[in-house]
Amino acid sequence: PEKKTPVGFTEKIVSFVRDREFIISEKDISDILDELEMGLLESDVAFSVTEEILSRIKKDLSGSKRKIGTSVDSIVKNALADALLGVLGEGVDICAFIREHERPVKILFTGVNGTGKTTSIAKVTRFLQNNGFSVVLGAGDTFRAGAIEQIDVHGERLGVKVIQHQEGSDPTAVLFDTVEYARAHKIDVVLGDTAGRFHNRANLMNQLAKIRRVIKPDLIVYVDEAVAGNDAVIRAEEFSKSVGMDAIMLTKVDMDPKGGAAISIAHAVGKPLLFIGTGQGYDDVRAFNPRLVVEDLLG
Ligand code: GDP
Repeated sequence: PEKKTPVGFTEKIVSFVRDREFIISEKDISDILDELEMGLLESDVAFSVTEEILSRIKKDLSGSKRKIGTSVDSIVKNALADALLGVLGEGVDICAFIREHERPVKILFTGVNGTGKTTSIAKVTRFLQNNGFSVVLGAGDTFRAGAIEQIDVHGERLGVKVIQHQEGSDPTAVLFDTVEYARAHKIDVVLGDTAGRFHNRANLMNQLAKIRRVIKPDLIVYVDEAVAGNDAVIRAEEFSKSVGMDAIMLTKVDMDPKGGAAISIAHAVGKPLLFIGTGQGYDDVRAFNPRLVVEDLLG
């Protein structure tokens, strides 16, 4: 008589094989980890950050189980993508943030000179205008010669009021008046500039701390440039420890196609990126998208 395969036998074999698990050893993942390490370093992710992320992945994955049919490489790549997304955090929806807060919403910009802080304030003004919000600017960098005039020119071009005092005056007073103006005129958002340099570091940090105490900003945005490499990471850490920040705006991303700076700075301060600057024009600004950066980095 003809031999028949028992009913369900094939299914049983398939499910047995499918559910078999293999233990992943450190050796299994070392080649792909080395490859990914090179990739991150070549994209200018800081060495310390790269090492920390990869050693965590190695520790988490070694000894874990892999089902048959899943490749070790894809498991490691997915773990790395998750780790990078963890560093970058979710994007921040600034419009939702403004809607959820009491008006005027006070946003301060901090960071050293030359990184694009003033231009960034102008770009964010345009971005907020495009989204239907009214804006007033506070010329809070009273220290650098020309800073007040520079922001005033932006204000004029963008059609927004700039509150300003004389050079050398107390920046807290300027920003206080800016908030008062916004209240009186029912303006949605105050964007305050601050000095990037002062007589010395300690003075600068004290000045920013005073502004923070008195103005009670809803959001402190730290601005730095993608092209500054490790300097930016060190600066960001210093600002984070002394003044603190809630979010990062990374400028000159157009000049740094590699994309590692976002990871390094976000990792250094543990805060999300809000915007990236992608050129010198007012419209060269984009809400930061963590997924796009990770896709670029992992190819
Ligand atoms: P601040 O001293 O930090 O206020 O810097 P500025 O706003 O004056 O900008 C310094 C220079 O960087 C200017 O020439 C800006 O046009 C330029 N800049 C600012 N943001 C960007 C950007 O996203 N991309 C490029 N390529 N240049 C930028």
